[in-house]
Amino acid sequence: MSFSAAPSSMSPGTLYVVATPIGNLDDISARALKVLAEVSLIAAEDTRHSARLMQHFGIATPLAACHEHNERAEGSRFIARLQAGENVALISDAGTPLISDPGYHLVRQARAAGIAVVPVPGACALIAALSAAGLPSDRFIFEGFLPAKAVGRRARLEQVREEPRTLIFYEAPHRILESLEDMRAVFGEERPALLARELSKTFETLKGLPLGELCAWVAADSNQQRGECVVLVAGWQAPEGEEAVSAEALRVLDLLLAELPLKRAAALAAEITGVRKNLLYQVALERQK
Ligand code: SAM
Repeated sequence: MSFSAAPSSMSPGTLYVVATPIGNLDDISARALKVLAEVSLIAAEDTRHSARLMQHFGIATPLAACHEHNERAEGSRFIARLQAGENVALISDAGTPLISDPGYHLVRQARAAGIAVVPVPGACALIAALSAAGLPSDRFIFEGFLPAKAVGRRARLEQVREEPRTLIFYEAPHRILESLEDMRAVFGEERPALLARELSKTFETLKGLPLGELCAWVAADSNQQRGECVVLVAGWQAPEGEEAVSAEALRVLDLLLAELPLKRAAALAAEITGVRKNLLYQVALERQK
């Protein structure tokens, strides 16, 4: 390992961003354990929670709180110690810090101060879920947590309705059913999806179904509304024929559909854009589903 835990008055220390398990403690890496044991200080989201993890691994490094409420204000305390040559590790309660977890402000402050920031990779629920989902994984977007209130949630989902990349969401167990139902309403019954629950834990479940069936499955079994979960939804695919229609023609069609009956809108759009009337009629039917 190329770092020294001993403070040096010559050069600043390093901030290590260390991933910890999301359930199964065996998922911690040998490198993570070494770094956590050798740094001077561990900045932790919840020191009591992390104290249990450190005790499990026999690590005695002191812990200091670094959570969303103190991260900005207290960041300078960690930066001062790093500047004094100490190495510091940043961890969150589970998984990779900064991924729907605190750490962003500390990492930014450290980088702005010219301090080396080194990731120590490991568990991350969204990546674990994606790796086993069987949905396209070459391009994806992570939407984090959706707004808790229905209006905001629907609006956010509407923004990504025609997103072609695989969509990944985090969700709390008490909202999983209402969120899935909103996804069904916005993305449609048939859109392929997967619920990844309790990853790496005893009751790990990965269930892939079209959204309509997934909602019914979760509604019928209250056990599926417990524990931690990630939802993946396949990206939008243009309905047959729609790919052949330019974005401009679709825009014209949508404008006309908002004002006119479907048949008339398709006919007028065909005249304006030069696209075949039958094709626009089919596309209009799909868009009004
Ligand atoms: N930093 C973490 C990561 O790297 O995945 C995420 C922390 S975020 C506060 C917690 C959310 O991550 C949970 O609500 C759930 O959506 C997801 N999550 C964390 N652990 C999980 C697990 N074992 N199985 C499924 N989802 C999990």
